[in-house]
Amino acid sequence: MATDGPGKAPGHSTRFYAVVSIAAALATVGLKAAAYLLTGSVGLLSDAAESSANLIAAVGAFWALSAAARPPDEEHALGHTKAEFFSSALKGALAWPRRRSSWRRLSAAFSTPNRS
Ligand SMILES: [Zn+2]
Repeated sequence: MATDGPGKAPGHSTRFYAVVSIAAALATVGLKAAAYLLTGSVGLLSDAAESSANLIAAVGAFWALSAAARPPDEEHALGHTKAEFFSSALKGALAWPRRRSSWRRLSAAFSTPNRS
């Protein structure tokens, strides 16, 4: 388990920060969902759904960091640190539909004929 090194605070593992990230994502989704229930705002519901992707990414990061922390074994003589790349891939995959949707809306806004 990595606890020291550049950019890492001594005493806490990377998995500790992944757990903090999961807790923050849970709180964010919960607060936005509660705000939706109080106001009925579809915008807040949409925001809560969008934030749930961050929760999934945080859980994926925890899994990847846990896998990366395992010591080398017979199958993986150089260790498992490359498992962290799966977390990056998951985050990118979760963000892609949002970027695509945003790009479509932006493109549509600029392709609308100017009526002035
Ligand atoms: Zn292994």
